[in-house]
Amino acid sequence: MPHTAQAPIASTAPTAAHALPSYLDPNHLGPWGTYLQQVDRVTPYLGSLARWVETLKRPKRALIVDVPIEMDDGTIAHFEGYRVQHNLSRGPGKGGVRFHQDVTLSEVMALSAWMSIKNAAVNVPYGGAKGGVRVDPRKLSRAELERLTRRYTSEIGFLIGPSKDIPAPDVNTNAQIMAWMMDTYSMNVGATATGVVTGKPVDLGGSLGRNEATGRGVFTVGVEAARLTGLTIPDARVAVQGFGNVGGTAAKLFAQAGARVVAVQDHTGTVHNAAGLDVTALQRHVQHTGGVASFAGADAMAPDEFWGVACDILIPAALEGQITRDNADRIRAKMVIEGANGPTTPEADDILQGKGVLVLPDVIANAGGVTVSYFEWVQDFSSFFWTEDEINARLVRIMQDAFAGVWQVAQENKVTLRTATFIVACKRILHAREMRGLYP
Ligand code: NAD
Repeated sequence: MPHTAQAPIASTAPTAAHALPSYLDPNHLGPWGTYLQQVDRVTPYLGSLARWVETLKRPKRALIVDVPIEMDDGTIAHFEGYRVQHNLSRGPGKGGVRFHQDVTLSEVMALSAWMSIKNAAVNVPYGGAKGGVRVDPRKLSRAELERLTRRYTSEIGFLIGPSKDIPAPDVNTNAQIMAWMMDTYSMNVGATATGVVTGKPVDLGGSLGRNEATGRGVFTVGVEAARLTGLTIPDARVAVQGFGNVGGTAAKLFAQAGARVVAVQDHTGTVHNAAGLDVTALQRHVQHTGGVASFAGADAMAPDEFWGVACDILIPAALEGQITRDNADRIRAKMVIEGANGPTTPEADDILQGKGVLVLPDVIANAGGVTVSYFEWVQDFSSFFWTEDEINARLVRIMQDAFAGVWQVAQENKVTLRTATFIVACKRILHAREMRGLYP
């Protein structure tokens, strides 16, 4: 069932008789409300482009689909799926697909909007999009997961395509799921179309370095920020929430650079060792047991205590809405690097700023993944593949340049790095919109 979340473009102030739809209300709880507040904060810095800002406050398209599959026991189960294209002013939609039991339309809308901002912040030629299915994939067999992925891909098939909208992995999706998505789309269009998704297996047109790219980007901006603020990585204590693709890679790279990873939390528990966890051993433990809980080389910790752990760098790399007004005051880190999308609420942002904690926002810090996704897409189009060294070198250069630009804008305007990133990105998006003009 297509569901359009479009509303008239006119920017009218809300009155009781003309209440805002819930998706335009910044006080509307949840990630989309967080995003709207972030846009409101940047609007005073947009100059004449501010007249276009409403464009950023509504997704261009939001599609809700029913995903019915036959379970292994013969019953039929229905799951709700989404694909949202937030803004396509700068190019085709780009953004991951999340499989999680708590996925909502509001969440996918926010994630698609953050993709618009992120893609513009690192200046890759994409708009923002995101998808999701409300399912706990851990409860499905492999065959059920494949059927779910293929049916979801077919249902959103008319929206996606190598030059229209290109999905990628996100929470609980991986290279195998991208392979099924690519195959399903290819079967439907009658030709192999590797460029329809990124994050594929390397043998199917995937890119070397994509798996680790987001974590490598997190590490790269962390190193840059440490250099600018006088924090030495070899002495730094690091705490990581989420030990999957992003958090696991970031933890490994910081540990390799000599930092001490003192605490890790995932959906199974929290482990702590002030002397430093053996990250490689912890990764092996997670592979065997499915989570960090009961890791022998650490003490267990109550989940809420994680936020007060003595550390220099805190990396939220799980889900959104984790750092809130309830725990921000307890954070002892000098720097927060947002590996996850939307982990900090605007109220918590203000508390951290008040405490002098430097926040490297998601929209720049975790842009390494989409940057290498862009490389993968370019390689698929040209059928010419680069070495891992080339990819990592280009990734690091793009992340360093983008971060330096954002840092400068923050200094010039005396604003946080989040607002600075939004200034850079919103100006690029709205300038593109203005140059293209409104159709018709
Ligand atoms: P993943 O599925 O590989 O890992 C998610 C991790 O979060 C797991 O360790 C899981 O145990 C943990 N987690 C889940 N619920 C939790 C909870 N309630 N408390 C503590 N930990 C919990 O996912 P990922 O790809 O690493 O994505 C993590 C975050 O990074 C998401 O916000 C995602 O949108 C963002 N992100 C991912 C990429 C990418 O390339 N994969 C790119 C940019 C941003």
